[in-house]
Amino acid sequence: MKKNIFDYTVDELTDIYIKEFNQKKYRAVQTYKWVYQENAEDFYKMSDLPLEFRKNLVENFEMNSLTKEEVRLSPDGTTKFLFKLKDGAAVETVLMKYNFGNSVCVSSQVGCRMKCDFCASSKLSFERNLTSGEIVEQIVAASRHIGEKISNVVFMGIGEPFDNYDNVMRAIRILNEPHGLNIGIRHITVSTSGLVPQILKFADSGLAANLSISLHATTNEVRDKLMPVNKAYKIETLMQACKKYIEKTNRRITFEYALMYGVNDTIRDACRLADLLNGMLCHVNLIPINAIEGGSYTRTPQSVMMNFRDALNNRGITATVRRELGSEIDAACGQLRRQYFE
Ligand code: SAH
Repeated sequence: MKKNIFDYTVDELTDIYIKEFNQKKYRAVQTYKWVYQENAEDFYKMSDLPLEFRKNLVENFEMNSLTKEEVRLSPDGTTKFLFKLKDGAAVETVLMKYNFGNSVCVSSQVGCRMKCDFCASSKLSFERNLTSGEIVEQIVAASRHIGEKISNVVFMGIGEPFDNYDNVMRAIRILNEPHGLNIGIRHITVSTSGLVPQILKFADSGLAANLSISLHATTNEVRDKLMPVNKAYKIETLMQACKKYIEKTNRRITFEYALMYGVNDTIRDACRLADLLNGMLCHVNLIPINAIEGGSYTRTPQSVMMNFRDALNNRGITATVRRELGSEIDAACGQLRRQYFE
């Protein structure tokens, strides 16, 4: 079976080149530049590699584990891709244009095991983890599609990134390679529904990517209902892990809180949230809940949302309301599944 070129860090590729192909060390960097900076889609085009070695690469490596099945452009400039994988599985990826640059929201798994009640991805059965290469290729494909660089990556597509920890960590290293896409580590964000052991592992990983926690409730009773992961890791345990993460990394955590009408949006919730986060280096991102097919949650009215935000701010917790992009094409938070467009 051929290896996916997008699956390897420069160091790993260097190792393979030396051990398996008897090649010089710097060939991996040369390959990286062709793949990620020159957008070469054919090993033969890598003109500074010896011809014989290029043949070896063609025989042993591939660089097309994704095919762009469908692309949809929203009036706000957001693009949603449906990528088909080699085994027939499919994932969605979203490209958002901000004034600070292009941001890609990647999927980390085919389907999701977390089964959050308000999220479209949870309606998918879990099939498998994505490989690091399949994750990286989503960003490469999005960048090639618009012919522009990608400056930010968020692991907020389909799947729970910490349920595919090793492949996600490797993908982050690859995205961050200076000879490759060179995406700044602080421009990469991993979002988790709250897998405590992995949060602690991430704190020790030395990888300074941003961490987002999908919290969405202030009592275990409500969070148990919304997010089954809460049955394994209660809010108190989650908060302890977050505090350890901040202590070890001195990095700010973003808490995602999707406001659902009559479920988690009272001023009492805002006060409880402020108590939970009291003294922590953090920021709260309030998300207006997005409608999903068959979903039972509706949006909190704008004025209630603003009061909620103000209640947090007044208690010293910085909170902002997330700008919404892509909802016209079902590309907003929680709307990703694998939809074939009509
Ligand atoms: N599994 C990870 C990554 C998904 S990120 C996680 O849970 O963090 C997607 C973000 O969108 C999460 O914060 C998720 O809770 C949120 N989300 C899910 N469904 C949503 C919906 N219908 N409306 C708004 N946000 C939603």
